[in-house]
Amino acid sequence: MIVGIDLGTTNSLVAWLSPEGPQLIPNALGEFLTPSAVGIDNDGKLLVGRAAKELQVVAPDRCATVFKRLMGTDRKVTIADREFRAEELSSMVLRSLKEDAAEFLKQPIEEAVITVPAYFSELQRQATIHAGELAGFRVRRIINEPTAAAIAYGLHELKQERVALVFDLGGGTFDVSILDQFESTLEIRSSAGEIFLGGEDFTRSLANQILISRQMNFEHAELRHPLMLSRLLHECEMAKRKLSTSDTANVRFPTIEGEINEACEQVSVSAGQLNEWTSSLIAKTRLPLQRALADAGLTRHQIDEIIIVGGATRMPQIQTLLREMFGKEPRATLDPDLVVAMGAAIQGGLVHLNKAVTDMVVTDVAPFTLGVEIARDIAGSVKGGYFFPVISRNTTIPVSRVEQFSTIDANQTSVTVRLYQGEGRRTEDNLFLGEFELKGIPRGPAGQQVDIRFTYDLNGILEVEAVASASGTKATHVVTRHAKNMSDRQLREALQNLQSLKTDPRENQANRHLLKKADRLYRELPLELKKHLERLIHGFEEALQLQDASVIELNKKALEEFLNQFDEQH
Ligand code: ADP
Ligand code: MG
Repeated sequence: MIVGIDLGTTNSLVAWLSPEGPQLIPNALGEFLTPSAVGIDNDGKLLVGRAAKELQVVAPDRCATVFKRLMGTDRKVTIADREFRAEELSSMVLRSLKEDAAEFLKQPIEEAVITVPAYFSELQRQATIHAGELAGFRVRRIINEPTAAAIAYGLHELKQERVALVFDLGGGTFDVSILDQFESTLEIRSSAGEIFLGGEDFTRSLANQILISRQMNFEHAELRHPLMLSRLLHECEMAKRKLSTSDTANVRFPTIEGEINEACEQVSVSAGQLNEWTSSLIAKTRLPLQRALADAGLTRHQIDEIIIVGGATRMPQIQTLLREMFGKEPRATLDPDLVVAMGAAIQGGLVHLNKAVTDMVVTDVAPFTLGVEIARDIAGSVKGGYFFPVISRNTTIPVSRVEQFSTIDANQTSVTVRLYQGEGRRTEDNLFLGEFELKGIPRGPAGQQVDIRFTYDLNGILEVEAVASASGTKATHVVTRHAKNMSDRQLREALQNLQSLKTDPRENQANRHLLKKADRLYRELPLELKKHLERLIHGFEEALQLQDASVIELNKKALEEFLNQFDEQH
């Protein structure tokens, strides 16, 4: 069984291709969106999703979020005094989705198609595959999120050629892609983006302004009052969402200890203010938009269709910007939160050659230029460190290309092939991907021919082969792991590390989430209500202890109803 997964910076989703079309799969709380959040509770239990987000408000040092931004790096995240790589944290989210799917579809799930931002590098794509493997998936394909969105919109079903622009503003990444649809083919013409721009930045911006108005400083608060800041960010997140549909919203300003009580000041924020405070963030989307157009060789008038994806595109400012820039209404008939997962599910079906979608050919592009290091003869002296592009940015993949090179020295019997990605003329400006040696070049004068073939597959995995033409000697290198990626040994260790983490049985997850939420709200309430809540929590805990289903249900309902009147927002 294969599923499609949108592994987001903020939220992740899983879907499958049912006979009736793509279908989203709910998690243990009955929701489609699982926050990409991981936490370790006081009793050492691993929490994923909403429960981890609740815990983060009161114990930020026990939780991790936005780790997708660290994919493909060696950076470690510490939660509850344990260190994790981004791949490991992502794998916990993936595993949770895998279990949700197995429960929903009543069968084990072995395979997945996972989406990544179009702008993800080689390293980040490979890290995503590793995360999938750590979660126990066979990752059949990595596809770009905008491609998935276009598939969900069924652009391939259109009769006439259309050019679409996919604008995806999620929690932490911004992606813009231009796709061309013709004769049942969906081709990405260009993609650009910003890996440090998303809805979270809007929330932080709002919090920052509120802090400034109180003569406080964001960095200082982060350092000295992390609880206050995490609570304030939670408040700002709710206010920001409200402002997408209302003119004003209130932010309760927490105490320095991070508590919210009846004495807390309420800060009223208007949609206009939010607009003003975040105008520089909105402006930041323009450059990637222009670059994507330029790379595709198109003007904005040649875009037939604008598709918006990602929760942050619900902000009216975004839609206004697009309307002004392109002179047309963005298309958003599908829920921008779900569209990527739906496309991934369809792609999963495509991988399995499901009949419903066999008529569709999907192509993708290389997000960066790939090449090798060469030495150049500059006025008689040989200088190294030059980048020779073999596959240029935005080439449609899969692609395979050969270039001829020649040896520099007489009797040179080996060459070191050093691989880079990037747009710089010098290798020092680009990202080193790996190197390998071709040995066994027959002795002879300088200028022996060496063919280097780059093959870039649909998963964005690069294979490079070097052949000494005279002898036919070959050396091959697959760019899967290098400095910043996990070795086999690290993967095995990570797997053991993960297995040592205990999780609640699935049926307990909703209960644990409820308790975490109650725990957070407890601190926000005035004394009278605190006492009431304490009784409800106690009753629920006791019922859980007794393991009597009907008593649990009764107490759970009472607690839920109480919490909902204070905190409608997730
Ligand atoms: P990702 O793909 O990065 O996981 P999502 O597409 O799930 O992200 O978008 C998450 C972002 O969308 C968050 O920053 C959230 O604050 C924002 N968001 C969700 N709903 C709204 C809304 N109604 N108004 C404004 N922003 C929203
Ligand atoms: Mg997304």
